[in-house]
Amino acid sequence: MSIDLECPICDADIPLDGDERTGDFVLCSFCKVTFKLVKKKDKWVLVEDYEV
Ligand SMILES: [Zn+2]
Repeated sequence: MSIDLECPICDADIPLDGDERTGDFVLCSFCKVTFKLVKKKDKWVLVEDYEV
């Protein structure tokens, strides 16, 4: 099963393979920002990962 998420910054569609797990990193190919994938209440959410 595949999921589509929207980039929180530029609203571009970010296609996922469907085998992602919480904590995976996803790159938006449009704004080149890397997000962390987090599952909240059965919904995937992209969070900006600035805690380095
Ligand atoms: Zn983006």
